[in-house]
Amino acid sequence: MPGGRSRSPPPEQADVVVVGGGVVGWAVAYWLKALEGRPGAMRVLVVERDPTYSRASSVRAVGGIRQQFSLPENIRMSRFSASFLRTVNEHLGVPGEPPVDLQFNPSGYLFLASERGAAALERNVRLQRDEGARVALLSPARLKEKFPWVNVDGVALASYGLEDEGWFDPWALLGAFRRKAASLGVLSCVGEVKSFVMSSNVGLVATGQEQPVSRIRYVNVHAADSREYQPVSCAVVVNAAGAWAGELAQLAEPRLRLPLEPRKRFVYVWHCPDGPGLECPLLVDTSGVYFRRDGIGGNYLGGRSPAEEDEPDTSDLEVDYDFFQEKVWPELARRVPAFAALKVRSAWAGYYDYNAFDRSAVLGAHPGVENLFVAAGFSGRGLQQAPAAGRAVAELVLRGRFQSLDLSRFGPGRLAAGEPLAESAVV
Ligand SMILES: Cc1cc2nc3c(=O)[nH]c(=O)nc-3n(C[C@H](O)[C@H](O)[C@H](O)COP(=O)(O)OP(=O)(O)OC[C@H]3O[C@@H](n4cnc5c(N)ncnc54)[C@H](O)[C@@H]3O)c2cc1C
Repeated sequence: MPGGRSRSPPPEQADVVVVGGGVVGWAVAYWLKALEGRPGAMRVLVVERDPTYSRASSVRAVGGIRQQFSLPENIRMSRFSASFLRTVNEHLGVPGEPPVDLQFNPSGYLFLASERGAAALERNVRLQRDEGARVALLSPARLKEKFPWVNVDGVALASYGLEDEGWFDPWALLGAFRRKAASLGVLSCVGEVKSFVMSSNVGLVATGQEQPVSRIRYVNVHAADSREYQPVSCAVVVNAAGAWAGELAQLAEPRLRLPLEPRKRFVYVWHCPDGPGLECPLLVDTSGVYFRRDGIGGNYLGGRSPAEEDEPDTSDLEVDYDFFQEKVWPELARRVPAFAALKVRSAWAGYYDYNAFDRSAVLGAHPGVENLFVAAGFSGRGLQQAPAAGRAVAELVLRGRFQSLDLSRFGPGRLAAGEPLAESAVV
């Protein structure tokens, strides 16, 4: 079966159990095998409850990758990911199998800033350039010259990524990680982790207040729609449960709530024959509305994150078309006059794997469970960060520290310490 996925029960023992078979889980599994000291020695198991990925974020993403961030760590992760994607077949190619084709579109991101946001945009671009990214700053006049279809009213400054930015096919990256990991011997199974068997009081940890640390001994993997479950004994567990990572962590340590939760986001697809055309990058407007070209037939897709008080109900993945009419379309038509005459063709909803504390990834050892590592909370950036995040978490598991990129500021410790690490360039 693809990715070594099997309906048979999981093994009774694994060295590392990765919970969640989205792009992050498979990236961690791949890197564990790619970096293991003695090839073939380590038993890695990926547990995924839904083999159709009907609600997983990975296959509902817009597929964007950019270098334009405000945190050095995010820039570095994306720079690594861009180089990984550029040479993807060196990493994820499997001998005898067709090459990986990510359908990469190198069209760049275009951020627009109002007078109020211009200084921050300029500061971010300075940092991005210091980190090696190629980003241009455009005055409104230069912006109009380069992209004549943009209405520059209210724009004080723009930044445009010249390299390593664009979008690619999320399914292709997920499938490639899965196929390669399976070829390296990663095991996988369909099942839901609903509980853990813990041993407690193995030590004391400082998490704002002293409290006992526990340890996962068994991961209970339940078969779908059944009471049957298989306890899998393991040394290490990686929580890569995406939007459900907070819920999963709570099963292991109910006293320490991680603020990782689903937030529903809508993506609308529209047709506009007179729209920007082939030269259309992924544009992020001063209002927060974003869009990009979708193929070459005059289609576009986009949306916006709602205000905190308008966050939609997350119990289903129904699309709110009124949100487009009221909150997205007016801004689109203001920024691109041709969009006044667009026709919505389709839409979908997906869950951002959202970190409600500071909207940044949480990567590292759980403060209250000795052998649980968290790789979640990417808040809309997990697809592009998966190659770097997977490697970082594998390094932590195998070597006890970050080696290639120092991502220690993303550690869960900051949550308990109340020290946010916020990315300002969010979409
Ligand atoms: C509309 C939208 C647009 C986006 N656009 C972009 C973009 O342009 N660029 C970008 O980089 N990112 C984007 N993202 C974000 C990106 O999709 C996510 O950050 C990323 O996919 C997270 O991957 P994941 O593997 O952690 O989560 P998922 O893909 O959700 O995988 C987690 C998996 O864990 C499984 N699971 C959960 N709990 C359990 C359990 N108890 N037992 C077993 N399995 C379990 C779930 O079934 C799921 O399949 C977007 C997201 C959305 C919703």
